[in-house]
Amino acid sequence: MRICVYTLGCRLNQCESEALADSFAREGFDVVREEEGAELYIVNTCTVTAKAEQKARRMIRLFSSRAQAVVVTGCYAQMAQQELESLGSNIMVVPLVKKASLLKLAGHLRAAMSCTVDLVSALRSFVEPDSTVFDYSAGSFSYHSRAYLKVQDGCDNNCGYCRVHIARGPSVSLGRDEVIRRALELEAAGFSEIVLTGVNLTMYDHEGEGLGGMMLDLIPRLSPSTRLRLSSMEPDHIDSRLIEAVSSSAVHPHFHIPLQSASDRVLARSSRNYDRKHLEWVLDSLRRVKDDPFLACDVIAGLPAEGEEEFRITYSFLKDHGFAALHVFPFSPRPGTALYGARDRCEERVRDERAARLRKLSDELGAVYQARQTGRTLEVLLESRRNGLWRGTTGNYLKVEVEEAPAFCTRGQIISGVLTAPGRLSALR
Ligand code: SF4
Repeated sequence: MRICVYTLGCRLNQCESEALADSFAREGFDVVREEEGAELYIVNTCTVTAKAEQKARRMIRLFSSRAQAVVVTGCYAQMAQQELESLGSNIMVVPLVKKASLLKLAGHLRAAMSCTVDLVSALRSFVEPDSTVFDYSAGSFSYHSRAYLKVQDGCDNNCGYCRVHIARGPSVSLGRDEVIRRALELEAAGFSEIVLTGVNLTMYDHEGEGLGGMMLDLIPRLSPSTRLRLSSMEPDHIDSRLIEAVSSSAVHPHFHIPLQSASDRVLARSSRNYDRKHLEWVLDSLRRVKDDPFLACDVIAGLPAEGEEEFRITYSFLKDHGFAALHVFPFSPRPGTALYGARDRCEERVRDERAARLRKLSDELGAVYQARQTGRTLEVLLESRRNGLWRGTTGNYLKVEVEEAPAFCTRGQIISGVLTAPGRLSALR
């Protein structure tokens, strides 16, 4: 039977989807991509924006009309179980709090279907076993060349625009020893790159020791050739310990910071626990310990309290600090959040104009960064091969085609090369 795991939203969702896909592959199911068509779809949803929810509904309807059954889970499923179930009679919603129980679904289906029970009945007879948010521990990954290791879930912050913390609940962390055990397991399974993920990764805490402390314990235990990448770093918990940890050559020079705005007024209005001065310290510190890292950020256009002056402050900040990519989101008021119904927000037309300006800035900054990297020696993780040419992602997050790669190369391997032009890397022999 063919099964497809369709993912919307953040890296953490991707990581959890990987583990689900892997659990099905281990039970002998054929894990396929969306375009190949499947009998069973699992849709891992996101509730960050109204657009993400809209897309989830559209895809669920489409899969429901094409496949025998659809299982829907994730943050949006947690917030709107009945609404999603009403989209089709072959849809089963598993709320976020029980998502990890889906890791046992493949075994259940295999057993139930060997007794010739049809797929929908087999799904309905699935009694969700006990699970924890850290049950995801894929030893192999069906769709990616790198491994994702979830070390944190939930969030204790209460940002005014966000309902992820409502869906996911308070922050919890995987114990340090367990993180180390799982990372070594992934390394032993052949992964040369491990992405540490979490809902709010920098909120990681093990007995009072944060993400930096945990990484300083982990890194010396890994092979010198293994590389770590951090999925996303909320600014408020970035401290000097974390800066010390990321200074290691084991950590790729790529950092994604959801800064959202650089205006103190807007940050305070959104209940973000930092100010522009802290952002400056974070960026200066990252640049001090890494040579021209790829700095990306999330920015929300048109947050409440963002007037022309506040937008100008944010725009100049992003430009002056040489970000390499901006992930721009127009402010989308979410029901149940503090800023839902806020009156001090700009018109949608103004918000969309600002978003367009930021996207244009992102293209310009990206081109400047690429040009600056030309001539440099970079590490690249090999991801796929087409017409004899390897493609991959460099440590500093540039998508490249690799020329003159040695014949013995394999998917998931890290090699070095010189960036000869944007998007072209010549392998070192
Ligand atoms: S830090 Fe803020 S935006 Fe991020 S998950 Fe927590 S509450 Fe949401």
